[in-house]
Amino acid sequence: MKTFEQDIAERLSDIRRQALFRELRPIGTAQKPRIESRGRRLLNFSSNDYLGLADDPEVKEAAAEAVRNFGAGSGASRLICGSLGPHNELEATLAEFKGVPAALTFSSGFAAALGAIGALVGKGDVVVLDRLAHACLVDASKLSGAELRVFRHNDPESLEKILRQETCRTQGAATTARILVVTESVFSMDGDRAPLKEIAEVKNRYGAWLMVDEAHGTGLYGPRLRGVAEELGVSGEIEVQMGTMGKALGSAGGFICGSRPLIDLLINRARSFIFSTAPVPAAAAAANAALKKIMTGRCATHLERLWKNVAAVRAALGSPAPDPCPILPLHVGDEARAVEAGRALLDRGFLVPAVRYPTVGRGKARLRLTLSAAHESEDIAELLAALRALGFGRDFVT
Ligand SMILES: *Cc1c(COP(=O)(O)O)cnc(C)c1O
Repeated sequence: MKTFEQDIAERLSDIRRQALFRELRPIGTAQKPRIESRGRRLLNFSSNDYLGLADDPEVKEAAAEAVRNFGAGSGASRLICGSLGPHNELEATLAEFKGVPAALTFSSGFAAALGAIGALVGKGDVVVLDRLAHACLVDASKLSGAELRVFRHNDPESLEKILRQETCRTQGAATTARILVVTESVFSMDGDRAPLKEIAEVKNRYGAWLMVDEAHGTGLYGPRLRGVAEELGVSGEIEVQMGTMGKALGSAGGFICGSRPLIDLLINRARSFIFSTAPVPAAAAAANAALKKIMTGRCATHLERLWKNVAAVRAALGSPAPDPCPILPLHVGDEARAVEAGRALLDRGFLVPAVRYPTVGRGKARLRLTLSAAHESEDIAELLAALRALGFGRDFVT
């Protein structure tokens, strides 16, 4: 039998051989465009802090005040004695922001997905998932014990085919099987959007439920910045709306919102909620302050700058612009070549990491470029010059 050390060493060399080895990069500054790593100054084009709120003075002050008033830690799970002022306030704000009766927060988006899907479906039920859905949605579906079916990325026809099969198959069952369709609104690695209107129409026709993860939509789209579902006018068709606070809201945590009974069920059945210490008060207060800022129109200039930056980069790269998105993948394909390209940019002082399997499919490696409202136009100009010098152009964008 192999020793523990042998086994680990072999697996690591396997990962290295496939150019898939990853390591942590220490960052010595707050999350913003100009960061420092290992004594080097870098221009950061890899953060999900789209509005630049992670380092916003008002958001930071809200976190500091929560520490002063409610302490560093929450002391217990929410159901024991950890439901502190900032948690309850944040959930009220989230419900108002999303225009729904209720919301529930989790320590992360990953935990929100695990808790919600596991509470809603189980053995004998079916989850129908977009092929490119985030790892947390995949793992949550697998862990739930429900049957997992996968539809072609952003393809309502493929979804319909599966729903037709599953409604036929489960009709004979003694109990009525639940069918939950799960997708994202803006996909985290491609920056493209789900056709939510068409998907909602299909799932309604088959009496299925719909869960949409708006991790990358919340705070950016729609007249009230609720997300893509609002922009497309389909919020009312989505039974389970999910979001995270670690992206545009500049904090950390995940949430589910919808009807009051949905939230009551999650409080009683979502294991990642019940058996986990409540998020630190500072994270909840920061997210709440970010939401208030967004809801009162005080992020209008942030959004203007963000979309201006996105338009500038897209125009320079010759990228077609169906829907604006701060996520811009530069497709390389080969894992080793993607790592090399990322390193070449790093040598020039730009942080645009290579994203590889298992985050994306094998042979679909890319540089994942993300833009923020906090980038100055000079930052963008410097990036574009570097990309040009390295030969990145139209061939790398879709
Ligand atoms: C980031 C992300 C999550 C996970 O959220 P965390 O709060 O980081 O755990 C879930 N879904 C999508 C689409 C994401 O991009």
